[in-house]
Amino acid sequence: MNRKNLFFAALALALLATVPFFTSNSYYVHMIETIMIYAILLFGLDIVVGYTGQVSLGHAGLFGVGSYTTGVLFMKMGAPLWLIIPSSIAVTAGFGALLALPALRVTGPYLAMVTLAFGTIIQILINEMTFLTEGPLGIKIPKPSLFGSQLDEKGFYWLVLALMALSLVVVHRILRSQLGRAFEALRGSPVASDCMGVSVYRYKVYAFVISAGFAGLAGCLYSYSEQYISPNTYNFELTVLFLLAVIMGGRKSRLGSLLGATIIVMLPLLLDDLGIFRIVASSIAVLMLVGGAVGVVKKITTPRAMAIPIVGTLALAAFSFWLDSITDWRLSIFGLMILFVVYYLQDGIVGFVRGLLLRRLTASEYGIELSDAAAAKDAVRVAGGALAQGDDLLVARQVLMQFGGLKALNNVDLRIQRGSIHGLIGPNGSGKSTMMNVLTGIYVPTAGSIEFAGRSVVGRTSSDIALSGIARTFQNVQLFGEMTTLQNIQVGLHHSFDSNILDVALHSPRYLREDRLATERGLGLLRFVGLAELATEDARNLPYGKQRLLEIARALALDPQLLLLDEPAAGLTAPDIVELIAIIRKIRDHGITVILIEHHMDVVMELCDTVSVLDFGQKIAEGKPAEVQADEKVIEAYLGGTAA
Ligand code: ADP
Ligand code: MG
Repeated sequence: MNRKNLFFAALALALLATVPFFTSNSYYVHMIETIMIYAILLFGLDIVVGYTGQVSLGHAGLFGVGSYTTGVLFMKMGAPLWLIIPSSIAVTAGFGALLALPALRVTGPYLAMVTLAFGTIIQILINEMTFLTEGPLGIKIPKPSLFGSQLDEKGFYWLVLALMALSLVVVHRILRSQLGRAFEALRGSPVASDCMGVSVYRYKVYAFVISAGFAGLAGCLYSYSEQYISPNTYNFELTVLFLLAVIMGGRKSRLGSLLGATIIVMLPLLLDDLGIFRIVASSIAVLMLVGGAVGVVKKITTPRAMAIPIVGTLALAAFSFWLDSITDWRLSIFGLMILFVVYYLQDGIVGFVRGLLLRRLTASEYGIELSDAAAAKDAVRVAGGALAQGDDLLVARQVLMQFGGLKALNNVDLRIQRGSIHGLIGPNGSGKSTMMNVLTGIYVPTAGSIEFAGRSVVGRTSSDIALSGIARTFQNVQLFGEMTTLQNIQVGLHHSFDSNILDVALHSPRYLREDRLATERGLGLLRFVGLAELATEDARNLPYGKQRLLEIARALALDPQLLLLDEPAAGLTAPDIVELIAIIRKIRDHGITVILIEHHMDVVMELCDTVSVLDFGQKIAEGKPAEVQADEKVIEAYLGGTAA
């Protein structure tokens, strides 16, 4: 967080802290308290929904687990607050791990359904396990004691405020760390995450567990806040409301979570009181009009795109004045608002405003010193240092890869000499990319063996293989689009972090050191491929050729012994290709072995020490580039095939 934001956050917190002095009406204090409690849950839900891109309809259930852990511990044991808070967090985090299990197997609508079932089962369990939870009767809980004295309304409000602020800091730190980058990478490209050594499997579980921990804390505070809990609070409606809050407020934003929490707490009030509804509907219409005008002037959006939302909000405002009573219309208005958000505010309110302000964060706002790049002279490294050249780094024997009846690889042998650039060529569909996918664990070969640096690759996970020293790029670029170029590379540097979640939350010296090194090294790698100036640009905004270079830099971040490049020159302009050739040479000179799939024959001829030729999944030739080029079978394969 930069200084300005920090200042505003501190100011806002200070203002919130004074609320109990301004009003003697405990109704408002309680309302803000509820908003803050929901915000804690939404910070966590945003990790799953906003960052990893999974859907969870199980969070009301997790909220319930947190509440009931508190209720039961108090009722059965009279446990004190300092014990109840960590227990509620821990128990709920455990349930989060359970919820993560389906997330590993299914995605999209199926995941939504499974998490919904999870939430429902929790609610039923709370209802039925009367011996523990008192069932539908519910549990009464007084306000907790702190340092020997029982907290009153105000005291508890400040406790909630303090814990909300603490959660905000911790979540923010987690999401800005290597953990947050891992979560975000999952959403951007699961395949690329795995191939950068960031196990999709592990980090999905991790995201759900952390997220559940916050739901547990929120549930705990909710019990004390309401002083009475019963099963039907934690229902379907609440879970949908939570999801809506994250989306409406704006995903990947703490401010969005706070805004979302405010909306879902205020919405019922808003839809109860016609006077307030009129004010709010008119304000939204005015905001939309101004926002739309700014957007059009700044050429972010077109008048046409803005027409419907502006007319819609104006109509809603007019409608609010035409209405005599709001009660009959509550659900319809609620439904309309959801539709509006889904169609026009896909990035939420915060995202919408950010879009209008539209500017790239400067390096210093990201906390980056561009001069750091100079500090990392040895940006390109090989794990264990460059080893003796000449022996075989990778040996594949009789590799068979069958898709149904198709033999994409038909008993291929391949030996890659350490320190060489090994070309892999052949007509389209001859099995080159399949070979890379087999080498990196994306496919498990039907038969055959692959040894890399003396160890078998077959059957190991992609992330494990990546960490053992094989890095790659993809034929169809697989970047983490919503992350900056520097962050993309830092995902590749994930292996250089030993710090755990505690280090991250406390900003321990170990974490700070690792984080600084990762920034320097990341900038060094960006400089290596000539992208240092674009450190804070989102990867998706880069031109195609630069995206390919970024992918190479990200792969280098793994400190690989072997680098697989799948058609790196495809779609590049001639000057870009010249630059690419120089970069690949430099990579080899650093002692990294390269397998190069390429259609541009001049690139292959210029760079490769050895070339293997595939055709219909079989190796038909191998040797020095010039020999292979003169080979009868190769010429025939290319002439018979589509393109060279
Ligand atoms: P290349 O990279 O040499 O152009 P590929 O390795 O991508 O070729 O493809 C080789 C053959 O394997 C093609 O016929 C392709 O359709 C097939 N293939 C590749 N991946 C799959 C898959 N996951 N399922 C079915 N067929 C596949
Ligand atoms: Mg291919």
